[in-house]
Amino acid sequence: MKAAGLLLLCLLAACAAGPAPAPEATLPNTLSPTNETPTQTASEPGAGPQPAAPAPAMRTQYWLQATLDYAAHYLHVRQEIEYSNNNTEALGEILLVVEAQRQGASFQLLRLETVAGPAATLNEPTDGLVRLTLAAPLAPGEALHLAMEYELYLPRGPALLGWTERQTNLVDWYPYAPPYRAGQGWLAHSPAAVGEHGVYESADFEVHIRVRNAPAGLSVAAPAPAEGTDGGWLYRLENARRFVWSASGHYRRLDARQGDIPISVYFFEEQRDAAEAALRVAREAIEVYSGLFGPYPYEHAAIVMALFPDGMESDGLFFLDQHYFITYTYDRRNYLTALTAHEIAHNWWFGQVGSDQALEPWLDESLAIYCELLYYQAVQPDLENWWWDFRIQRFAPGGWVGSRIYDHNGFAPYVHAVYMRGALFLHELRGMTGDEAFFAFLRDYAEQGRGRIMGRADFFALLAQHSDADISGLLAEYFED
Ligand SMILES: [Zn+2]
Repeated sequence: MKAAGLLLLCLLAACAAGPAPAPEATLPNTLSPTNETPTQTASEPGAGPQPAAPAPAMRTQYWLQATLDYAAHYLHVRQEIEYSNNNTEALGEILLVVEAQRQGASFQLLRLETVAGPAATLNEPTDGLVRLTLAAPLAPGEALHLAMEYELYLPRGPALLGWTERQTNLVDWYPYAPPYRAGQGWLAHSPAAVGEHGVYESADFEVHIRVRNAPAGLSVAAPAPAEGTDGGWLYRLENARRFVWSASGHYRRLDARQGDIPISVYFFEEQRDAAEAALRVAREAIEVYSGLFGPYPYEHAAIVMALFPDGMESDGLFFLDQHYFITYTYDRRNYLTALTAHEIAHNWWFGQVGSDQALEPWLDESLAIYCELLYYQAVQPDLENWWWDFRIQRFAPGGWVGSRIYDHNGFAPYVHAVYMRGALFLHELRGMTGDEAFFAFLRDYAEQGRGRIMGRADFFALLAQHSDADISGLLAEYFED
């Protein structure tokens, strides 16, 4: 029961892929939508990698004024979006993803109107998607400015979007415009039993948060430095995939800096020692990865202890399961250390360099888990062998690195294939190219991928510019096609 319970809980959030559940723990087949069409587009589920579009010439702008009634678990939001058509074809409709609806929140749209651009006719939200039919096509280079107002009641429970007695978490709480690709349509994928399905363009956020009926000692954890305003907080986050936040009357906070980057950890008092350790690891990891891949891409880093399982990355803020703080062992041989390093790496591989999490989850997850090794090699190289055994070898992982989230009928097979064999693949690749070419490639990939959504074709095309090693055998071993 314990393994099954852990497994089911892990479905809620699985980025860090910490202690893999027992191999025998699998989901019923009914929860394995391998035959479902995973996207709302015309793309074939098995279609090969698509070349990445360039970074948007004009990033989508989000203005969000959110008022949280903490005691009522109710959120009222005024939101404006300025969406620019960066494509080469006109758009007759705009799609908005309302992930909150899928996550069990009662989402009620109160108002939507066009501020500038073609008039938009609202179609009833279904399955977490809102289609806006435009009175006139939005031509390439044109912008549509929308204003909307909505409310949502947060679901109860430890989750990415939800509340418990100790914390309220807000991930994917606002409608967002997914990427649009000529020939593919909107990249708005359906949830799967495992993994993350959201695909996010880089965008700019200005978020004003107010909290009513706040508990004593309220803290708000956010991915950017707070600017004080009348009765609230104002945050600006640029060139980011999404804006997530969390609030609690129970948080304690510790602060540190790595160079220009302030780092904060929000934790519950009983885990103070572990929180100090996580802060230290975050500082070290930012230093290591900045040296390898280029500067940390945001102005601030926050770690939030979470009551939901495992962890979840986002730009400038990540959640990490309380369990990893409780099991901290006062050295670096533990999940708290490895997964803090993992989540920090996602600021480069998720945030700076975007990818399609549903169809090509290895692009960010194999790099994030491999960055754990790079962290240990830099700060405590005598733990390299320990890391390989603790994180990879003892699970004897199998499966295709390039598989989609829809291809797995359980958490363990997914993590074994995409994360663990992803790390093995990258390590063998590094061995074949040599360190100099491998790290030059990763640095270039981080730079070329900034603000873009990279695909497998981009990854290997760029690799070929840095190494002429014949990796065909490696690809046959780790990738299905
Ligand atoms: Zn991850």
